[in-house]
Amino acid sequence: MDTDGGADGLKYECLLFDLDDTLYPMSSGLNLACRKNIEEFMLHHLHIEESEVPRMCLELYREYGTTMAGLKALGYEFDDDEFHAFAHGRLPYEKLKPDAVLRNLLLSLPQRKIIFTNADKAHAAEVLKRLGLEDCFAGIICFETLNPPVGATNYTDALENDAVLAGGEPKLIDLDDADKERSHPKPQILCKPSLEAIEAAIRIANVDPKRTIFFDDSARNIASGKAAGLHTVIVGSSVLVPGADYALSSIHNIKEAIPQIIWEGEGEQQEQIIQSRAFETVVLG
Ligand SMILES: [Mg+2]
Repeated sequence: MDTDGGADGLKYECLLFDLDDTLYPMSSGLNLACRKNIEEFMLHHLHIEESEVPRMCLELYREYGTTMAGLKALGYEFDDDEFHAFAHGRLPYEKLKPDAVLRNLLLSLPQRKIIFTNADKAHAAEVLKRLGLEDCFAGIICFETLNPPVGATNYTDALENDAVLAGGEPKLIDLDDADKERSHPKPQILCKPSLEAIEAAIRIANVDPKRTIFFDDSARNIASGKAAGLHTVIVGSSVLVPGADYALSSIHNIKEAIPQIIWEGEGEQQEQIIQSRAFETVVLG
């Protein structure tokens, strides 16, 4: 039986959240600023033809999940940390304000909550800090988690507190199996929306996908999440997309939009199970 997360008796044991444009709205402007930074990196660091940059940036993002993954797949060589520092280092983080409504909402949900983002650890930590949500999650699965530094042999090397995320048994991803697609080069970066990335996150989080709900603003990620067996919620949309079980115009609407899947469980004991409490220290994997 479940022994962690306090979710005994509930239909769902874990909530898996994307970060950017999911826990805060796209209207914050971070997304646009990030894309501009990446375009600048492509222009000045990779010396890609200026007229090609915007189209290429978008197409690689669409094709590979992140522009960075696409650039690597095309053979561009650059340091991952340098790229992330350039893409995220000058973002207008001040536009993100503490979100007390979301914080209280998350703390009121008894399930284990984990962040699953393609972004790097520093960015994830900064965003959560700005939103005032640092202590709302049991762990973070981020770029470094799925793409450990060269020389690392397993997740233990990438996660500072892997026991929480990996259930004490960090498992290797077989990178040789990471891409079964035929038509383009093997991606060197493991990230959403690849099914392998989602399955890796499920293993790292050590959750049963059938008892996990996945929130993301990307239709592609939602489709892959469904393929991996997760229950899915498209965020930032009032209409369903293929593979989505629910649509939330705002992450604030979880209770209103999907009360039964959050609360379904022991019936009369719900009120006792659902009580506000803080989780332990957030894990920055
Ligand atoms: Mg997102």
